[in-house]
Amino acid sequence: MNSCAYCDANALYRDRGNGDYLCLTHARLEVTGPRGEAPRPPLTIRPSTPADRRQIAELTYYFWGETEIECFDHSYQVDTLPAYVACDEGEIVGAVSYARKGDADTLITLNVLPQWQGRGVARKLIAAVAEAARAEGATRIIVATSNDDLPALALYQRVGFTITGILAGRLVEHHGGVEAGFADIPVRDEIQLELRL
Ligand SMILES: [Zn+2]
Repeated sequence: MNSCAYCDANALYRDRGNGDYLCLTHARLEVTGPRGEAPRPPLTIRPSTPADRRQIAELTYYFWGETEIECFDHSYQVDTLPAYVACDEGEIVGAVSYARKGDADTLITLNVLPQWQGRGVARKLIAAVAEAARAEGATRIIVATSNDDLPALALYQRVGFTITGILAGRLVEHHGGVEAGFADIPVRDEIQLELRL
């Protein structure tokens, strides 16, 4: 796991130009043209097993600072949820955790280590959940993100999610004030999205 090049915070992103590791505050978006296919080393995507629990907890803690995540008014202990993991040999470099309820699967966390971002890992993890959900009769996948999380909003819409709701100010209430998020954008609103299967 890596620290930000500009402060001591955990790095959630990586500078595509110089390889620096970046925290939320120091990450910036830039517009670039297609630069050809990024190299795609072999990664295994598979359902998690009980033996993965410690690594999933570590990955969750690295990104979220906790392993209990609140989502759609429920609290989830992430390392006990069903999940798919992306593995580089034995090491888990990305994971998606989800919860099944009625006709919908809810994505609870989706995280890929910065050195593995930009290689389609998150897209493959979402596809794995979608395939399992479809096979078990679910009709949609739902996810909630925050107004500042531009990379997540971009990713979800690229893979077919559409915005179904915006709870304006919801995260100010939840955090007890305005916190700084991605690229120092104030975190205010919960944005809900849905993927029809
Ligand atoms: Zn930083």
